[in-house]
Amino acid sequence: MLSRRWIHVAAALVLPGAAILIGFALAGEIAWSRALGAVAVLVVLAALVSHRRLASLDGFETHLFGTAAAPLPAAGLSADDYIAALERLEIAAAERAAHEKTRTQAAEAVIDAIPDPLLVIENARQVVLANTAARALFGPAAGRELAAVLRDPALIAAIETAAPGDPAQEVEFALAGAVERIFAGHVVALPETPGAAPRVLVAFADRTAVKRADRVRADFVANVSHELRTPLASLQGFIETLRGPARDDAAARDRFLGIMNDQAMRMGRLVADLLSLSRIEQDEHTPPAERVAVAKILRSVADALLPTARAKAMTIVLESAPDLPPVVGDVDQLTQVFQNLIDNAIKYGRPETPVTVTAKVIARPPGHLRLPAQVVAVSIADRGEGIAREHLPRLTERFYRIDTGRSRALGGTGLGLAIVKHIVNRHRGALLVDSELGRGSTFTVCLAPVGSDPAGAGQPGR
Ligand code: ADP
Repeated sequence: MLSRRWIHVAAALVLPGAAILIGFALAGEIAWSRALGAVAVLVVLAALVSHRRLASLDGFETHLFGTAAAPLPAAGLSADDYIAALERLEIAAAERAAHEKTRTQAAEAVIDAIPDPLLVIENARQVVLANTAARALFGPAAGRELAAVLRDPALIAAIETAAPGDPAQEVEFALAGAVERIFAGHVVALPETPGAAPRVLVAFADRTAVKRADRVRADFVANVSHELRTPLASLQGFIETLRGPARDDAAARDRFLGIMNDQAMRMGRLVADLLSLSRIEQDEHTPPAERVAVAKILRSVADALLPTARAKAMTIVLESAPDLPPVVGDVDQLTQVFQNLIDNAIKYGRPETPVTVTAKVIARPPGHLRLPAQVVAVSIADRGEGIAREHLPRLTERFYRIDTGRSRALGGTGLGLAIVKHIVNRHRGALLVDSELGRGSTFTVCLAPVGSDPAGAGQPGR
């Protein structure tokens, strides 16, 4: 590099003098030997002078484009040299900026693709970056004051105290909304950049489902223990009495044994319901594939429950459409669904009133996109006290009862509708509840007829 440039510069310096000397020699003004000797001296001088200058230019270039450690040469350069070097510098800077932009865009795309919300906060005061998930959660957060986006004092304190190099802090907080959600915020200070404001990254993990599952599980264990403890305590009490004070009292013994039998039956029903719930849950993700004639099941369930209905002077009216198509289902599970619903209608219906069971094809109810356009709908209507609106959303929760004492007195376990819901879910059907206080309730089960094409089929996430 140096040698070519050196030859060019040295030649430029030598050429005019050499031309004059050769001119004089040609004209015979000076001897050729002298002229050539002078040219040789000129070449040596030009080489020496240009070498110093070019070494300096070379050092300048190495400083600009070579290793960062190369020192800036002290000697002066020509204006052209500087211009050429600066042009190269500008080209290199533009290339570096374009490269930097591509890298920033790639980093932003990666941050946006992260499914958890992320925020970057500057000076512990202003949000400067929010990824797609954060925008969905907090709205357009970038550019807003931190206090307008996050309000939890513990989370804000963690952001304010975060220092580079510190381990991430985790703060759990509730986010108010139509449905309260629980999040864990991981707060970590980003490495310091000289001249830039301190930045803190907050990554949010949605803990709502885990918390809810924990609570449901804890509630469930507490409920089961409670449900079993009451009859168990009563059995133990009667055993004590029969062993002691009532040992020889035949009338009391008969009465107590009757109660003990009821309590043991209640425990048996509870255990049976718990087992069937756990079995249904296990295969809830594999839909059934049998071809089931609903009208036949309804007839056999109605026959089986006739004595229970008669005990309350009630009737079961069965109205099945003659051309009812078969549905895709599991006979035993659908039998359990209709048994639980008709049993409830008898339990909660007023004495001497009918329970009406209708089965017909209807158009898919609005909002139930998972169902095919036409469904087989089985409605069980009672004339009981009805259910207040506020109870409807929670009715299918395990052990949820409107009146626990009444349910127990009627032999209920509080699991009947939970079982119905899980079976209907496995059948990819729908359970609708319609009720009017003082008039009665109608529970409707919608099922897919054989051969129907579910509207949601093929759509991911359904
Ligand atoms: P239970 O064994 O208590 O009947 P379910 O899960 O079958 O349990 O029902 C849950 C609760 O829903 C019942 O305790 C009752 O309060 C209410 N319920 C269910 N079916 C009816 C109905 N047909 N009429 C009025 N209330 C009902």
